[in-house]
Amino acid sequence: MEKEGSEKLNENDDEFFPEKIGEFSDMGLKKEILQGIFKYGFEKPSLIQQKGILPIIHKKDLIAQAQSGTGKTATFVIGTLQNVQYDVFQVQCMVVCPSRELANQIKIVYESIGKFTKIRTQECIGGTKIKDDRQLLFSKKPHIIIGTPGRLFDILSIEKLLSQKLEYLVIDEADEMFSRGFKVQIFRIFKYLPKECKIGLFSATLPKEILQVIELFISDPVRILVKKEELTLEGIKQFYIPIEKEEWKLEALFDIYRSIKAEQSIIYVNARKKVEWLANKMKLNDFSIAFIHGEMEQSERSETMKNFRFGKFRVLITTDLLSRGIDIEKVNFVINYDLPQYKESYIHRIGRSGRFGKKGVAINFLSRVDVDNLREIEAYYSTVIALIPEDFTDFDFTVNT
Ligand code: ADP
Ligand code: MG
Repeated sequence: MEKEGSEKLNENDDEFFPEKIGEFSDMGLKKEILQGIFKYGFEKPSLIQQKGILPIIHKKDLIAQAQSGTGKTATFVIGTLQNVQYDVFQVQCMVVCPSRELANQIKIVYESIGKFTKIRTQECIGGTKIKDDRQLLFSKKPHIIIGTPGRLFDILSIEKLLSQKLEYLVIDEADEMFSRGFKVQIFRIFKYLPKECKIGLFSATLPKEILQVIELFISDPVRILVKKEELTLEGIKQFYIPIEKEEWKLEALFDIYRSIKAEQSIIYVNARKKVEWLANKMKLNDFSIAFIHGEMEQSERSETMKNFRFGKFRVLITTDLLSRGIDIEKVNFVINYDLPQYKESYIHRIGRSGRFGKKGVAINFLSRVDVDNLREIEAYYSTVIALIPEDFTDFDFTVNT
């Protein structure tokens, strides 16, 4: 390895780890992992995979930023899988992320790419019985656990020996995990990490304030960063529709869904109650929809997510709970019924479409009070959010690359 971040560069430079490996087969991966990667359908590593897999294999602390949908998950999945000793039946890697749905998705990626290995993974999320988690930890003896911070902390604090052999902690959606609600829980989890445990942080957005917090506990990480001006993706067209009054949004929404044929789409609103309200209105008008928010029973959330993945309905109404990480191939259209409260959230929401080079469309409903916020988002990310063109219903909303 050449440089490993000993040279501190400006945090807006994107090149910190000079070595890029253009082929999975040149990464020195175990053959079962390579077989898993190809079987999963990957041919070439994306840029973040070319740069980010090796630092993990070499057990470096890592801060890895890359645009939404560019393959950050497989970066840490492949890197951490490579280091697991399958005949050591202890937790060697832990992944923490902000939602139960995302934890489940990440677990599935581990299982798919790790299909030909002897990997054992376990999900530890809230809304389920902790007793069941503990029993499974005991009987399954997973190498990798993936979960949400509250539950992971609870388990670590009861099962004190669980983290004994922990070598790598992945924090996905890292900026979210160090802001607002999650920060305290993450720092509590840190108390259970063995000294040698390295940390890999991943996100499409890593605002400066958060990087500063992160640098307080990781002194010399490998850094792969992206300028905020380069975060929006070419493939995702962004529009706004001016809607003077909140009450008029509903009719505008119906108009859109009556005139376009998006395969699957997500509508974001800013409150749980509003999710239910909107879901009711759409159901009454015979749209094929479902909804998820944080106050629902876990079993219902999982069931809805599964059905959406299977394409049983076309529209999912939700909050920022599902703004991050969720990867559903057929989603090519996102509506911000409400503009998000945080700039980062905007990037993540629209990034649910246009995954891995596919095309996507994002439409923002813009009431009068939102105008400044939208302009701010535009300026901050140096992007263009255009007035919706007359002929937008003719757009190709089919998923293609
Ligand atoms: P991110 O976490 O960066 O937003 P994901 O890890 O969720 O993105 O990946 C987005 C999509 O791209 C997933 O469907 C994933 O299977 C696919 N993908 C990732 N890496 C590759 C690759 N090297 N080749 C083809 N598809 C890939
Ligand atoms: Mg991700």
